[in-house]
Amino acid sequence: MSDEDTDRPQCTVDGLWTYLHCPRRYELAHVQDLAAEDGATETPRLEPLRRALCASLETGTTDPGALVDAATDRLDAVWPDGDDRFHSHTQRRHEKRVLEATVEAYVETVGTDHARGLERLREAADGEFVGPDRPLRAPISLPETERNRSVAVESTVDYVTADGASLVGVRFVPTTVPLGLLRYRSSWEGDVAALFTDHFDPDAERTDPDAVGALLETAVVLEGLRELCDRLGLDERTCRYVLVSVADRSNVSVDWVGERVEASVDTVDLTEVFLDHHTFGMTHEHRNRTVENRLAETLAALVDGEFDPTPVWDRVAADACPDCEYAVCCADRLSREVAFDG
Ligand code: SF4
Repeated sequence: MSDEDTDRPQCTVDGLWTYLHCPRRYELAHVQDLAAEDGATETPRLEPLRRALCASLETGTTDPGALVDAATDRLDAVWPDGDDRFHSHTQRRHEKRVLEATVEAYVETVGTDHARGLERLREAADGEFVGPDRPLRAPISLPETERNRSVAVESTVDYVTADGASLVGVRFVPTTVPLGLLRYRSSWEGDVAALFTDHFDPDAERTDPDAVGALLETAVVLEGLRELCDRLGLDERTCRYVLVSVADRSNVSVDWVGERVEASVDTVDLTEVFLDHHTFGMTHEHRNRTVENRLAETLAALVDGEFDPTPVWDRVAADACPDCEYAVCCADRLSREVAFDG
């Protein structure tokens, strides 16, 4: 982190997501630092897979069999025999088979290509490219009306690789289902642009905080990758952001009689739905002026302490309140419940 960064207001992508769902929740979680009620959704397959797949990429091998072996060895290490989360040995053995099948699917679908890209990247530059949780940090300038102000926003990827002339940040996620429409579109122009604009329009009925959050996150990650390129002296690279889902139960099929498990992984290159061709034509970078302007405005509101959810109450009440882990200590929600009861 540079001295300049330590002087800037700080924010993480997680915080940005929280603010997007509800500004009051951001205040309770990140400003007042209150502990949430324990409502975390568990994705027990994600963590061992992230660690195992990163360990296999860290070996430097590009051989598919060696990648699978290295990941499987790490799975054995991070899943000790004494693990008692499972009801029975049979269930435990089944879970392990699902993880091993997912490793094979990952290596076959993208892992080998990404290992080769990583090899080329290591030849081109010195750096640590494999996590899990490699931090990226980028200063995001606030709107032009607030000259000279910026926020240092931290994001993470699980590893960085190369694909042709692009530097690619990759993050493992449990599933890509929350991306909704973004999974089925390959360009910004059209319904993705409309979805994004509608979300911030108080008169529009449609809101989609998960898809909008993914687009804002893409803007932050791409800026972090551009900063990494500059720092490593990797000129003339465009940047891309890819999600790989490794723990989606609908991607697993089981033959209980033959005791065989097959798995697949989904990849979503968010750069495709993020970049708008007009901005790309002007900058020759994977950018989107609409998303980046909205990101700057959202960060300005966040660092200026705009936490009152009233202006966006209908959206917050419908999307965020029902499963909010701060509901018991939230005056906004409690006061509305009392008003309704009275
Ligand atoms: S209960 Fe609703 S208004 Fe209160 S912090 Fe949670 S999401 Fe926001």
